[in-house]
Amino acid sequence: MNGPTVYEGWWEVPDGLLLASQLAAMDLPRIPGGEVAGIVQAENWHARGRDDQFRLYRLSDSLPSTASATQLEAADAKRTKNRVYRCEECGAFSEQALPRYPLDDQLLKNIEPRYLCRCCRHITRLTGYQAHHGARRAAAARWAATMAAAGAALAVTAAEVRPEGTTPSGKRHPITGIAVLAFDIADGRKVFDATVLRRPAKAGQRTKEQLDPEPGAKRLRAAIEGRSLIGWTLKDLEPLRPILAPNSGRHVALGEEAHARVTDWRSDIDVRTGRPRAATNPGRPDRLALLIRRIATTTPAGSGPRNQEEADR
Ligand SMILES: [Zn+2]
Repeated sequence: MNGPTVYEGWWEVPDGLLLASQLAAMDLPRIPGGEVAGIVQAENWHARGRDDQFRLYRLSDSLPSTASATQLEAADAKRTKNRVYRCEECGAFSEQALPRYPLDDQLLKNIEPRYLCRCCRHITRLTGYQAHHGARRAAAARWAATMAAAGAALAVTAAEVRPEGTTPSGKRHPITGIAVLAFDIADGRKVFDATVLRRPAKAGQRTKEQLDPEPGAKRLRAAIEGRSLIGWTLKDLEPLRPILAPNSGRHVALGEEAHARVTDWRSDIDVRTGRPRAATNPGRPDRLALLIRRIATTTPAGSGPRNQEEADR
């Protein structure tokens, strides 16, 4: 037989699994009637935020407590004091004592806590997260507008070039050059498309797309001309470091990354986790430049399909 399922937080716990204390707090109290069906690891409010494990029981296995209706009625005033069963938002009468929500979520700190049913907690959480991410989306649009201004930034990919396979001693071949592709974000113009070689090519062996190290670095610097470099992630810009900043450490940024901004702008929230889904890499820098131009033209308000029309223009 399998042991109880372990849940990482209250949001993972499915309907129908309750703590013994929650069963006891039902408006018609119940007691666990079966094995422990789950364990949730969560913050213990009684132990100053320390994480703790809580045992969960199946509501369907549970049994009525021994209290009779007469006893419950007699005890009602005392027993249900400080317990709320009616949702303050929708008016539903829950079997279970309702928690005040939200309480300890930093993203929802501006929302006044109320006694809410499970459904209204879910809606409150999601609309609260949408509002939070809406603000981030507006910030992403402002960032994109800065990057899409004339002469401001280039969208870049840089890839290490090395021969396929391995050397006779089983090592990877050394890097022979860096293939760089760069587009002007403002107008989508291609400004660089070549491989800057690590060592000067032997006479007659250099192809049209290859540049010797020194003239290559010079051409690349001229193409950049003080513009910001935008990669999908900062890591994607790292192959440029030997060319553009050979003496700098990794703490010196070569440019900015678009990934987090695009994720903010899309704000495609996963209803289960409440977090936005990570945006997909557009792949080529011309496509990244187009995406940044689209983001730059979106209006801050959540006006739905109108945004896309404006972006497509
Ligand atoms: Zn409700």
